[in-house]
Amino acid sequence: MASAVPFLNVYLVLVGLMLGSFINLAADRIPRRESVITPASHCRSCGRRLNAIDLIPVAGYLLRRGRCATCGVQIGASSPTVEAVSGLLMAVALIWLGPWPGALVGLGLIALWGLAVTGLSVRRNQAT
Ligand SMILES: [Zn+2]
Repeated sequence: MASAVPFLNVYLVLVGLMLGSFINLAADRIPRRESVITPASHCRSCGRRLNAIDLIPVAGYLLRRGRCATCGVQIGASSPTVEAVSGLLMAVALIWLGPWPGALVGLGLIALWGLAVTGLSVRRNQAT
């Protein structure tokens, strides 16, 4: 019987990347006291709702060359960086500890990373 562990690891790293995507959204909206649930992700500049391609962590940014596909406004390198770091934290925890307790440690590391990114974003917004 083939081991399911490689698939589990890929799935968990994808979860890490998607959590990174949520961290970006939270870091963008929480300092503005906006809801992190609604409205759906949209371009800050033209208001276009982001589609499936825009929302792929890291790869979406690369495919769009860091710009909104509609208005061409620059998205900024921080968002794919935050996503990549989240995926990497999960990958490192899995390699280091195996799927269990690696998955749990990975989620914990991503949670801390999310708090740090969101906290810095709040502080930056207060300063300006
Ligand atoms: Zn736009």
